[in-house]
Amino acid sequence: MSLYEYAHDLDTPVHPVSAPDYMPVEELRALQLHRLQGLVRRVYDHVPLTRARMDERGVRPEHIQTLKDIALLPFMMKTDLRDTYPFGLFACPMNDIVRFHCSSGTTGKPIVIGNTQNDIRVWQNGCMRALALCGVRSPDIMQVAYGYGLFTGGLGLHYGGEGLGCAVLPISGGNTDRQLMLMRDMGTTVIACTPSYFLHLIDEGMKKGIDFKRDMQIRHGVFGAEPWTEEMRAKIESLTGIFAHDIYGLTEIAGPGVANDCRCRRGLHVFEDHFYPEIVDPETLEPLPDGEQGELVFTTLTRTGTPMLRYRTRDISRLLTGACPCGRTIRAIERIHARSDDMLIIRGVNVFPSQIEAGLLSIDSVLPHYQIVVGKEGDLDTIEIKVEVTRETFSDDIKTLERLRQRIGQAVQRIINLSPHITLVEPHTLPRSEGKLQRVTDLRNRAVSSKGV
Ligand SMILES: [Zn+2]
Repeated sequence: MSLYEYAHDLDTPVHPVSAPDYMPVEELRALQLHRLQGLVRRVYDHVPLTRARMDERGVRPEHIQTLKDIALLPFMMKTDLRDTYPFGLFACPMNDIVRFHCSSGTTGKPIVIGNTQNDIRVWQNGCMRALALCGVRSPDIMQVAYGYGLFTGGLGLHYGGEGLGCAVLPISGGNTDRQLMLMRDMGTTVIACTPSYFLHLIDEGMKKGIDFKRDMQIRHGVFGAEPWTEEMRAKIESLTGIFAHDIYGLTEIAGPGVANDCRCRRGLHVFEDHFYPEIVDPETLEPLPDGEQGELVFTTLTRTGTPMLRYRTRDISRLLTGACPCGRTIRAIERIHARSDDMLIIRGVNVFPSQIEAGLLSIDSVLPHYQIVVGKEGDLDTIEIKVEVTRETFSDDIKTLERLRQRIGQAVQRIINLSPHITLVEPHTLPRSEGKLQRVTDLRNRAVSSKGV
């Protein structure tokens, strides 16, 4: 089945859990306003930090009369969670908390998110709807190779899969040989993990003579927890014959299952009856209209443990305008290709690792494994990209290899406006990861770490 046919496969039954995806827009807005008003009241009454910020602005819960009034409210950021560690932003009594999740902060202590029974249900709902969007359903066999534990990836997808009636294999991350063995023996049809770990599985499989197209039953990959590009999606799909889906979420908001791409691949539908999205100008913090690019902000309309008002994700995106051919009325965000946190400033130019990935993978003989090293020579920033190329390429003569090196360099330079030093390496020589892969080493930061950069 071609992707086009698959995307328009009208015989695919809509799972009942997806009903809110198709809610009439006016009804959806009314529901969001009702939920927002309840949320603001709860947070104002129970979270001293937010109450103080609202008082400072002269804003009271009853001032929220329309959805636009959300702009009156203060923002929340990761630093707020860190500064009030561990329980300062909790909006309910500890009696109501049934589970904690943590995500690593940039420095020292983690951030702590509390979930009530209600929050676990909301989160499961998001994950079920995300998987339903991918076309996952019973009797799929779903191998969850995201980490289980304080990280939200494993348990989020686990409950999502079980909720849809799939047979879940909660293998967690790592132990690649066992992953491959069970995947083949049990006929796994859905894999959920980071895209970089899936690349590692493909790679290790190849070493053992496993051809994913021939030997595996996988139809869907549910990939998230790190940014990845359309070019990476194309590579994964051509190597394995699966449909690679993009799932989005973050621990502060719930975990995975905040948004997911649909079969039309215009962007990722946000489950906005629970997670209200805004795009704001990252400098002025003024709300931007749908269609314009800016920082993605979420308000967790229905969470009760650690609800977030206007949480700044630091992710750059836009809210797409116009109806999606899939018929969903919930809005979609553009794929996250740039995280503000990941931005490198090299010789005064803003560079995102995803731009480099897009340039590299536009060349056929390049494999989806690369490392970026940013350094300094005198006062000048340098950028070296080590990239694996196919074994056949390596057997070419020096001249051919040099031409390839130049072509790769030019492809990247066209996108980032800087000339990188390209080093070609043999397959299986760069580091792999069983979780999130660190592809960038910035040697400059080490030198200035005393400034707290
Ligand atoms: Zn759609």
